[in-house]
Amino acid sequence: MSFSEQLSGLKALFSHSKKIVIVPHKDPDGDAIGASLGWYNLLTNAGHTVTVVSPNDIPSGLVWMKDSHLIIDYSQNSQLGLEKIQEAELFLFLDFNDISRTGPLAGELLKSTAPRVIIDHHPFPNMDLAQIVISDTKVSSTCELSFKVMRSIGWKLDVDAAECLYTGIMTDTGMLNHNSSHAEIYHTVAELMEIGINKDKVHQEVFHSNSLSRMRLLGHALCNKMELLASGKVALIALSEAELKQFDYQPGDTEGLVNYPLSIDGIEVSVLMTEKKKDFVKLSFRSRGNVVINKYSETYFSGGGHRNAAGGEMKDRLDVAVALLHSTIEDYLRNNGW
Ligand code: 5GP
Ligand code: MN
Repeated sequence: MSFSEQLSGLKALFSHSKKIVIVPHKDPDGDAIGASLGWYNLLTNAGHTVTVVSPNDIPSGLVWMKDSHLIIDYSQNSQLGLEKIQEAELFLFLDFNDISRTGPLAGELLKSTAPRVIIDHHPFPNMDLAQIVISDTKVSSTCELSFKVMRSIGWKLDVDAAECLYTGIMTDTGMLNHNSSHAEIYHTVAELMEIGINKDKVHQEVFHSNSLSRMRLLGHALCNKMELLASGKVALIALSEAELKQFDYQPGDTEGLVNYPLSIDGIEVSVLMTEKKKDFVKLSFRSRGNVVINKYSETYFSGGGHRNAAGGEMKDRLDVAVALLHSTIEDYLRNNGW
């Protein structure tokens, strides 16, 4: 399906008012929530009845976004989430490429026969999951792609929606550090500015509102916990549940931490492991240039993502995850052209 056919398909789906449910991925980040609330604001203004159902809670740094308090956190309020899913006449799946990324929502979503639309920028989208799959791995973020779709159709964003999309572009690019070497992203940012976004407010809320305990956790991680593997090319930070508790961990507190070791000269791969609860480890991976890290994450940690930024999980103890990384990463890198 060409882009213009996808747009026509979208226009047809949105042609009369509908009950629409927007779903971001599990452990939603700035891009997933920014896109969800950007679309929420646009579609609500257009007269649709829209609900965002998130598989779990949203990071505290994003709650300033317009109507974020209306997001249903399925992990806290599964009954209401379920009702909305069952009533939905259309689903918008944002910032994920496969239903498995919605965690506990997956089974319920698949039961519904309502049409689905995916808007996403991850590689290997599951084309069978939705009637319309708008997927572009070259864009920085689902927010950037969403803006392109909205503008191409001729829909006008208000300031609130524009600030949500701007947030996703900034968080997924690390404030225009990565995935931002295409001119179009700067045109998009300029257009969002022209709509009237308060860029300084967004940066203050998202990047400069850290709690003291979060800064201390980052310091602890970099100072006491970073170890180097594979002749110093791989950095690992593994944080236990007890350490997270010690630093009063809140969702979003380790956001961006995995990028710091990668900024050290000579480090090719950075890995962050967080023991979110007993026998459950969440992993984040970052790599430089040609080092393909999503494949590694998929092979060993049931994960995936982008070539240079991936994630995964392991239902086991933290020390088991650490041992698995130790025993596999160097061979993986060697077998993959390093
Ligand atoms: P982050 O490290 O920022 O949490 O995630 C980096 C990238 O990996 C994101 O694009 C995210 O969607 C993807 N990702 C994170 N966790 C998982 C996971 O458990 N499974 C898969 N397939 N992708 C993940
Ligand atoms: Mn994204």
